[in-house]
Amino acid sequence: MPTKAPAFGSQTATSPLAHFQIDRRDPGPRDVHIDILFCGVCHSDLHTARGEWPGVVFPVVPGHEIVGRVVRVGAEVTRFKAGDLAAVGCMVDSCGVCPACVRSEEIYCDKGDVTGTYNSPDKHMPGKMTYGGYSKSIVVSDRFVVRVPAALSNNLAATAPLLCAGITTYSPLKHWGVGPGKKVGIVGLGGLGHMGVKFSAAFGAHTVLFTTSPGKVEDGKRLGADEVVISRDENAMKKHASSFDFILSTLAVSHNLDPYMGLLNTNGTMCLVGAPATPHQPPNIWQFLMKRRSLAGSAIGGIAETQEMLDFCAKKNIVSDVEIIPIQKINEAYERMLRSDVKYRFVIDMASLA
Ligand code: NAP
Ligand code: ZN
Repeated sequence: MPTKAPAFGSQTATSPLAHFQIDRRDPGPRDVHIDILFCGVCHSDLHTARGEWPGVVFPVVPGHEIVGRVVRVGAEVTRFKAGDLAAVGCMVDSCGVCPACVRSEEIYCDKGDVTGTYNSPDKHMPGKMTYGGYSKSIVVSDRFVVRVPAALSNNLAATAPLLCAGITTYSPLKHWGVGPGKKVGIVGLGGLGHMGVKFSAAFGAHTVLFTTSPGKVEDGKRLGADEVVISRDENAMKKHASSFDFILSTLAVSHNLDPYMGLLNTNGTMCLVGAPATPHQPPNIWQFLMKRRSLAGSAIGGIAETQEMLDFCAKKNIVSDVEIIPIQKINEAYERMLRSDVKYRFVIDMASLA
């Protein structure tokens, strides 16, 4: 018998998020049943809850930055037991047998058979969609549950955003070899961007933040940026022409890519992780040809790398800068996120959900 769990979600693309009851499956032999303590608020939650991305099926219960405590586990689960802290990110299942899944790059599953934490067809409850972390509890296959290192256990709210904002920036920075001697740009100081600045600095790169918000300059430096550039200032941008090894753009809106492509050095790469509702205008191809520049994309990261990232954060004392809210403030939080007015991730205290 599935159990009922209180949740918050949207019934249509235009209705505010509100309370309703959802079903959680009975844990199977490889499942972990988690009581959710905190859930971060990602811009992807907003894109989905408002039907900005194709294929959204309502109702939607967003939330994929989940930290909680294990209540019970299935008979075959050995890595977790009741009482343990545990975390879940953006995926809850994948084919598990293709080469990408075997090397723990589940998000790049060769069969495209990835089950998102929310708004994916639920393999365990045919005919239903998955519901995410804006909820009291969740049941997840143990392959997709990661351990919360002891050093992060006294800062659980600030740990939650690592499960999406953290891994989505850590993974491309690692993949493109960001480290000492590299000049790296991070575009946008929001949930993803502030983690990008922290990781780039922790990896030892010369880190430059690009922001549209003059009020974030000091914070950018406090978070680890060596320099901060106001991206609307054309002269300030031009001073960095052809000088970057790598740029990571986290903007949640479509924007002109050309000014950033022009900042890359020969062989430089700009990687997009933002997933705006409307496409970017096509970039000028001459900027690619003449300096052998690349434009790339990246999606979260695999489960093994997510664990590696959490362990790295525990070792280096890295967590998110968060503003903790009760779930009843979620609609207001969405409006503030749209105004770039969040320092730098909202996290829902799930004790507020009755
Ligand atoms: P966020 O917290 O809202 O941050 C986005 C930042 O973009 C803002 O803080 C702002 O920074 C900047 N920005 C510039 N112009 C803007 C404008 N006109 N309106 C709003 N923001 C503007 O969002 P997030 O949670 O970091 O997510 C960013 C994007 O990444 C979203 O599209 C999300 O869906 C996507 N995402 C992708 C993945 C993936 O796997 N690839 C994973 C998670 C999220 P400044 O004030 O500094 O300019
Ligand atoms: Zn996310």
